[in-house]
Amino acid sequence: MGGLGSPCSLYLTAAGIKELTIIDNDVLDLSNLQRQILYNETQVGRDKAEITKEVLSNLNSEIQIKTYKDYIDENSIKKYLKGQDFIVDCSDNLQTKFLVNKVAIENNMKCVIAGIKDFYGQIITINPKKSACYQCVFPDPEKDSIDPNAGPLPVIGVTPGILGTLEALEVIKTTLGLPNLYDNLLMVNLLDLSFNKIQVVKDEKCICSK
Ligand SMILES: [Zn+2]
Repeated sequence: MGGLGSPCSLYLTAAGIKELTIIDNDVLDLSNLQRQILYNETQVGRDKAEITKEVLSNLNSEIQIKTYKDYIDENSIKKYLKGQDFIVDCSDNLQTKFLVNKVAIENNMKCVIAGIKDFYGQIITINPKKSACYQCVFPDPEKDSIDPNAGPLPVIGVTPGILGTLEALEVIKTTLGLPNLYDNLLMVNLLDLSFNKIQVVKDEKCICSK
């Protein structure tokens, strides 16, 4: 429930997506407010999971919002999958993105994964067993991971605003059976305002082909 999760959850709630299960383990910090538009100054120091439930319930009282203060890892993610149709990755690290991709494929659930860095973003939507997946694009999680000692990535607040909004769009379109980003990685460059769709070919050696 950071920079991507804020706009994504707001649009999904406003659109009337019937049920949202949201997992976040963080506490709101003043420095988050530049990009995490769900929150405000009076909420600094509180759990994001708790604030999220309040804000989204006030936006649309007719949808069911479950929030949990928890980390997502290999074990915890299994607890939250039951009864879900779609996984939306709004995490800030590559390990979680690879985990979401793997779990979505194993459980035959659709998912959307987005990533950002300063003025740049990427987004892909996965239809398990049918489309190429995140790991088809980045085959080596170890090699493609960022050095954990590199410190936080720089980010302009608008970048996750746009990519998180695109994630909500992908969920809504997929739910309605409209065209989405299957077999494509969308590369967003907000410096020169270009959106490039790159076709991704399903890798026969990838986890999604097994
Ligand atoms: Zn794959």
